[in-house]
Amino acid sequence: MVTEVVKAKELQKLDPVFGQLSFDNHEQIVFCNDKDTGLKAIIGIHNTVLGPALGGTRMWQYNSEWDALNDVLRLSRGMTFKSAITGLNLGGGKAVIIGDAKTQKTPELMLRFGEFVHSLGGRYITAEDVGMMTSDMDLVRTVTPYVTGISEEKGGAGNPSPITAYGVFMGMKAAAKYKFGNDNLEDKVIYVEGIGNVGEALVEHLSNEGAKVFISDLSQDRLEEVRDKYGVSIYEGNNLYAEDMDIYAPCALGATVNNKTINTLKAKVIAGAANNQLADEHIHGTQLRERGIVYAPDFLINAGGIINVYAELENYGKQEIMRKTENIYNTTLEILSNAETNEITTHEAAFHIAQSRIDTRKKER
Ligand code: NAD
Repeated sequence: MVTEVVKAKELQKLDPVFGQLSFDNHEQIVFCNDKDTGLKAIIGIHNTVLGPALGGTRMWQYNSEWDALNDVLRLSRGMTFKSAITGLNLGGGKAVIIGDAKTQKTPELMLRFGEFVHSLGGRYITAEDVGMMTSDMDLVRTVTPYVTGISEEKGGAGNPSPITAYGVFMGMKAAAKYKFGNDNLEDKVIYVEGIGNVGEALVEHLSNEGAKVFISDLSQDRLEEVRDKYGVSIYEGNNLYAEDMDIYAPCALGATVNNKTINTLKAKVIAGAANNQLADEHIHGTQLRERGIVYAPDFLINAGGIINVYAELENYGKQEIMRKTENIYNTTLEILSNAETNEITTHEAAFHIAQSRIDTRKKER
């Protein structure tokens, strides 16, 4: 493994673009630049074997453009496997806009971004992610049909976050069943990191079920709002990972299971909404397995949102959305036992099933 990392780093020096550690046979990367509106965006199309590359747009103030590229590469790849394992006829794509969504997101910038999406002729279809709202997608819709996550008033399936949270809740219950022998989360100590659109909706499910919920977020206002609404506790310490807990639910950004946190983690189950929770799928997936921590693969249990937006393309209704999302419970249980039987990580088990669906379709073409 060490040799592989050294080799990858050498390659990165020689080939700083395709040699990026996160480059993984991506089909196309599009850099979108517009000085007039201040738009700097990157669209990543990872794979279109199963269908057009669908994935949300994230607006974030990255430390560097390389960080933004790395993020879009990792996120778009994750979308390929998310749609594949969920049985959707979609490929994997994602977009990032570099900037602060609170201060730099203007209608002009979003419209210009929409024009770039349109120029790809449907190979990439966008939706919302961190920093985006349904109203942003409604605006993008005025310049391109290649957008989902549209408001219900405009004929779309509405905000996907509550459905994502419901899917995460299903996946978490399945992981609890697997680890504790029972999927009832009453009295389970659960830490939800990030109480944005998805995190808050997850907190609602958990508190309805009687779990002991602790929340953390960068925004003190959000913390107080969510605490007051659901009667949960705000985490006051400075090392959440090392707290005694039954379940850790990462619902902020990715890579929180990393070299720094992995050995301090006390959770028995990890199940959350964030994409790319493992900084290194192989290394950290293996370490979790060795430590007996049940990890419900992120791209499997956070698929509710994509199921919701896919309904806009396939014209299915709320009932079918809920049925497909509820099925995340069964798929999670299958993947967890598959991993145990085959002595592989849960991430690998999910990944292999997704990859074999793509390979089969590729052969058929
Ligand atoms: P959001 O922007 O509404 O919420 C993210 C929250 O995390 C914010 O409140 C932010 O303050 C907080 N946060 C950021 N860094 C933090 C940190 N270090 N510690 C604690 N809190 C922190 O985003 P969202 O739509 O709720 O999505 C959450 C995660 O789930 C993201 O990783 C997203 O990619 C993933 N996801 C979302 C959907 C969806 O339907 N919205 C679908 C699949 C995956």
